[in-house]
Amino acid sequence: MKRRDVLRNLSLLPLAGVIPVESLHAAPPKTAATTSPYFDPKTDLFAELGVTPIINALVTMTFLSGSLMLPEVLEAINSTSHDFANMYDLQDKAGAKIAAMLKVEAAMVTSGAACALTLGTAACITGNDQQKIKALPNLPGPQKEVIMQKTHRYLFDQAVRTTGVKIVEVTGAAEMEKAINENTVMALFFNAADESSITHEEFVAVAKRRKVPTFIDAAADVPPVENLFKYQQIGFDLVTFSGGKMIRGPQSAGLLFGRKDLIEAAKLNHSPHESPIGRPMKVNKEEIFGMYAALKVYLQKDHKKEWQEWLDRTKFISDYLKSVPTLVAETVIPEGVANVFPGMLLSWDQTKIKISAAEAVKQLLDGRPSIFAGRKQDKLSIGVVLLRPDQVEIVARRIKEVLTKAM
Ligand SMILES: *Cc1c(COP(=O)(O)O)cnc(C)c1O
Repeated sequence: MKRRDVLRNLSLLPLAGVIPVESLHAAPPKTAATTSPYFDPKTDLFAELGVTPIINALVTMTFLSGSLMLPEVLEAINSTSHDFANMYDLQDKAGAKIAAMLKVEAAMVTSGAACALTLGTAACITGNDQQKIKALPNLPGPQKEVIMQKTHRYLFDQAVRTTGVKIVEVTGAAEMEKAINENTVMALFFNAADESSITHEEFVAVAKRRKVPTFIDAAADVPPVENLFKYQQIGFDLVTFSGGKMIRGPQSAGLLFGRKDLIEAAKLNHSPHESPIGRPMKVNKEEIFGMYAALKVYLQKDHKKEWQEWLDRTKFISDYLKSVPTLVAETVIPEGVANVFPGMLLSWDQTKIKISAAEAVKQLLDGRPSIFAGRKQDKLSIGVVLLRPDQVEIVARRIKEVLTKAM
């Protein structure tokens, strides 16, 4: 059975309850030793601000605060936040370690993959030319150009255009080659695009022949963990991944890695330098130490075991819902490269259970606890990978309540 195939036959899976994903447990950070008369650490800040905590039963989304940081990440932040550090030194040293871990020349921590897109583009434009760094995004002379496949245009190319470049759209390798001129500064590949007229290898080959740096956005493209190594091996000069998605580092962190001269130029365009285009995209030591810790954990963890735990969760939920008449629970793994992990699609006979998937989504969100689920056509879409172990049963129970109430 292919991984991406719909795993209809759940009975193939070993019978097991939900095995808690240990590393998914969001342990509270150790509180600082000092006590304050102004702040009781037991205060429920969600309640104090009137903000409802949400169970994310879908995928990582920025508007839902990304993913939950690993306990190791919270520990790394907490254990390093009591001292100052020279941020140039920390970025250099953490970058060197990360580069070694990813088998690449150089790396840095950014405030997210979107920041990496801006900094990587800026680096390709300016190199280490201080005049140009100061001038961005209003460089004198003809507008610089970034090449993208027409089918790769996406929301995040705004983060590239922030540097003042214009995007030149191409279809096919021959057109790409023809489009390259003296104003071309970079070629960007959107890894999760639905369609490509140029393969990764062709894209890199054409750009290398014409000495144009290539950048690939693979922000949401782990698992599998191997993808963290794949694109530099193909020959991309710059690669970015989000830190706050499945790697479970800080939400305001990301990785930019690749060619050493470009990473050095990207750093010159970033905080803690005071005036470049990347100064408002600051990362502090908490993000850097946190990102470093997250990557260390991600590279070492047992991904097979974690995958099985996710499957066990889908099995648990589908077993829990067995008594709901007409309900069909499918375990699905999405096609493509982004968000490729097990999730569930639930459907039912709506003449018997009189509720649409959209209404079920609304009731789950409006209920308590509030659960964020999704919808695919008229099926209820449930993600399991971001649930804390104690939330798996809660989600199953709430779905059952919402459906049986509509019978
Ligand atoms: C999430 C995402 C981004 C932005 O990543 P952040 O780390 O949130 O800045 C950029 N590109 C793609 C393809 C993404 O999925």
